[in-house]
Amino acid sequence: MKHDHTHAPEATAVHGFSPGFAALGLEARLLATLEALGYEEPTPIQREAIPPLLAGKDVLGQAATGTGKTAAFTLPLLQRIAHSPKTKPSAIILVPTRELAIQVGEAVGRYGKELRTSVLPLYGGQAIGPQMHALKRGVDVIVATPGRALDHIRRHTLKLEGVQIVVLDEADEMLDMGFAEDLDAILEHTPAAKQTALFSATMPPRIQSIAHRHLQQPVEITIAKEAVKAGSAPRVQQAAYIVTRPYRGATLARIIETAAPKSALVFCRTRVEVDEVTLMLSARGHRVEAIHGGLSQVQRDRVMQAFRTGQTELLVATDVAARGLDIPQVSHVINYDLPSSAEVYVHRIGRTGRAGREGTAITILDPREQRLLRSIEQHTKGKVVVTPVPSVADVVAKRLERTRGAVQEAIRAGDLDGFRGVVKAMAETTDLATIGAAAMKLLFRAEGGERPEQEIPALPMRQAEWHPSAQREGLHRDGASRNRHGRQAMPPAKNRTPRGREAGMTRLYVGAGRDAGIRAGDLVGAIANEAHINSNLIGAIQIEERFSLVDVPESLAKGIVEVLGRSRIKGRKVGVRVFRE
Ligand code: AMP
Repeated sequence: MKHDHTHAPEATAVHGFSPGFAALGLEARLLATLEALGYEEPTPIQREAIPPLLAGKDVLGQAATGTGKTAAFTLPLLQRIAHSPKTKPSAIILVPTRELAIQVGEAVGRYGKELRTSVLPLYGGQAIGPQMHALKRGVDVIVATPGRALDHIRRHTLKLEGVQIVVLDEADEMLDMGFAEDLDAILEHTPAAKQTALFSATMPPRIQSIAHRHLQQPVEITIAKEAVKAGSAPRVQQAAYIVTRPYRGATLARIIETAAPKSALVFCRTRVEVDEVTLMLSARGHRVEAIHGGLSQVQRDRVMQAFRTGQTELLVATDVAARGLDIPQVSHVINYDLPSSAEVYVHRIGRTGRAGREGTAITILDPREQRLLRSIEQHTKGKVVVTPVPSVADVVAKRLERTRGAVQEAIRAGDLDGFRGVVKAMAETTDLATIGAAAMKLLFRAEGGERPEQEIPALPMRQAEWHPSAQREGLHRDGASRNRHGRQAMPPAKNRTPRGREAGMTRLYVGAGRDAGIRAGDLVGAIANEAHINSNLIGAIQIEERFSLVDVPESLAKGIVEVLGRSRIKGRKVGVRVFRE
């Protein structure tokens, strides 16, 4: 199915429900939910997939994480099962990893709030008892990893005869993990008359074959293939920062502080995010204004006027709001969220680097969205350079630089006679460099130079290349995926800070470090594979010259020490013990 996003109707939802979503046939309560979430218009995959799914058709969709595919299948699913009996599950969504089961479960809960849809995530590594109780109480939607779903089916605790809709999400990942047979077995337990949707970032023959077996005359949707016309993408410097969600705000703040853009447009996906980001940046002393579909015309005009005259240096906007505006050339475009398609990306970054001027486009993204980034790169034929997040030291250096600039400016401006007398008097007892340093220190401090900064855990490059296959449910289901991705893989860097240890975690000392060629991935690999610990559970890792430190759950520490003590890391025996600070 062809889709042309750039010429989509200008859905300038000023007030009330977004006409974009309403036109897709979604019911009022879902529209109200989307409004409350600050979604202004459907993403391309949503525009394409929602109508056929609402009509009960099977869908085969190619879309990567970050395109809005979760809402694309969840919204119609919720609407279609809204009046089904609550005793048995009406829908099951199968996902490859426990992380996704949680995320998609949350999304279903969020979108289904008004419809009071109940949802239960089921994944390995979690006690089965409470899951059984929850299933007994009755639930509308199950979001499960295949292994755990099958486990429940075999125990007769999960009954699928009431299922009307099955979604296979990230099907290529599920196959990569060796779940093909499990999927077939699960689908066998569902009624023949049902609706099935399959979403996958890639469409290799294996997926086609699953689709052929389980989908009936599916509507095929391809969003990832939309090509941007050669040469239409603007030539600007493009950088990307990969961080997990909790650090997104701090990363944005730091990028803005170190890049010090003269004028920047910051794009967010939702209205709610626009407001949050604006508030955060304004609290940090930036001259910033928000613009989104919720503003009146008068408010927009005022905001735009302030931006044009340079009174405001940062404008935080949704795509819809920015589309209808005559925004002047900016030095930086910052994507607080990766946009949902290559077209939107090109449209966004086209606001900078115009008329031969220098422009920089910066994108912040989640490790899981790297595939979408690569597809954007392919379609725009431009290189997006993945860059480490500026460190606290970088920020402090930048602040010091600003203080120096301010002092130099004061020297240039002259008119210092009123202060010379004091300096001369002080110079009788103290040397001039010390006096200067003390004055600099005071100015630095007064300008907020000592404001404490949160550590943003660096994702080592290999972790930045993190592949979700590593986050398999359970521990060692199949060797295949481990061989392909295993030791390369790192868990997401949630709370991975080199210093502060999380509650419930114990720090282990491993007697080998950088000079033995140890990298974080080796430690994660050893713990996950030898001690059979889910890599999700591993906390902060610090690699030093001659040793390394790894945080692991307290309750598992003893076992890990024993097992690692017996095994080899990078081919050598290494001492492992609990670290005493
Ligand atoms: P997904 O590709 O399903 O992982 O979604 C990526 C992100 O986009 C999620 O954080 C959603 O909340 C958000 N999102 C999905 N659809 C929309 C939309 N139409 N407008 C704004 N944000 C959206």
